[in-house]
Amino acid sequence: MNHIMDLSRESWKRYFESINEKTFKATQIIEWLYSKKEYNPNNWTNFKNETREIISSSFKHNFIKIVKKEEDNLTKKYLFELEDNNHIEAVLMSHDYGLSICVSSQVGCNMGCTFCESGRLKKVRNLETYEMVEQILLIEEDIKKRISSVVIMGIGEPLDNYDNVIEFIKIINDDKGIAIGARHITLSTCGLIPKIKELQELPLQINLAISLHASNNELRSKIMPINKVYKLDDILLTVDEYIKHTNRRVTIEYVMLNNVNDNEENAKELINLLKGKNVYVNLIPYNETSHIIYKKSPKDKILKFYDILKKGGINVTIRKEFGSKISAACGQLRSKEVK
Ligand code: SAH
Repeated sequence: MNHIMDLSRESWKRYFESINEKTFKATQIIEWLYSKKEYNPNNWTNFKNETREIISSSFKHNFIKIVKKEEDNLTKKYLFELEDNNHIEAVLMSHDYGLSICVSSQVGCNMGCTFCESGRLKKVRNLETYEMVEQILLIEEDIKKRISSVVIMGIGEPLDNYDNVIEFIKIINDDKGIAIGARHITLSTCGLIPKIKELQELPLQINLAISLHASNNELRSKIMPINKVYKLDDILLTVDEYIKHTNRRVTIEYVMLNNVNDNEENAKELINLLKGKNVYVNLIPYNETSHIIYKKSPKDKILKFYDILKKGGINVTIRKEFGSKISAACGQLRSKEVK
């Protein structure tokens, strides 16, 4: 059974057509749910009794539950329990430009990146759209503030749950509802090429981030098994095509793993790969986790890597470190829960 928060305005329109109801009801439903925050269909006063009853009986309207919070000065991490007792997490971060939330898209992940805590625990299932929407609603309710941006960088590979993630993006982007601008929504992927090609056809001006993390094929295959299917060179060709198609700059994520991918040679290779492309590189200080042997690159090495890229003409930033004291690395809070 669908949940009332599984449907974007477009999908509601199709639904209302199918029950011979006026399609403008779709806008009203988005307003009830996401502007007025009235989640009980029985209270939707501009709906006929009959329509309320149909919606009440054909859709679920349960909430996922916050079961744990961990906090430090700039970060608050939430552990959620789903209806089937699975756990996922989301992180709230404060920046000088506002608040952002990092949401999960799956329970576990099958991509198997060797440095990532989420992948250590295999995928159990995809998240339903409402389970992503509710991460945002519950955090906003908890902090009594509006958030300004969303990154889909929590547990899971969003393009491996494409339909539900796209519907989620449409819902949070809807100007009658949560109204987060597309330019404030970032989807991060390890590079599922066919889905990137699908994404570029959508009229959504969201940001795309690619988890590259390596400067050559051999290294990437070692740390990211998905590279055996979608190779680094092919991903970069797909990125070129995506940029041409959408006219949007793409973010290249590069997690800095000590003595794995962080030497001068890697920086030079990266310059050769990215020179002249409309991309910017985000160097990510690695969040160490107790189960995984990788160590974070020391600060001076990150700065040196940064300098080489910069001198090589690449746009580059170093990601601010968030919440390393509160198990903020993807999947850490959940993995404490799942033994
Ligand atoms: N599956 C998607 C999105 C989730 S991971 C992807 O691969 O992009 C979000 C980002 O965090 C990815 O770039 C991922 O490689 C990175 N990441 C995973 N574990 C990390 C850790 N312990 N420290 C820092 N970044 C990490």
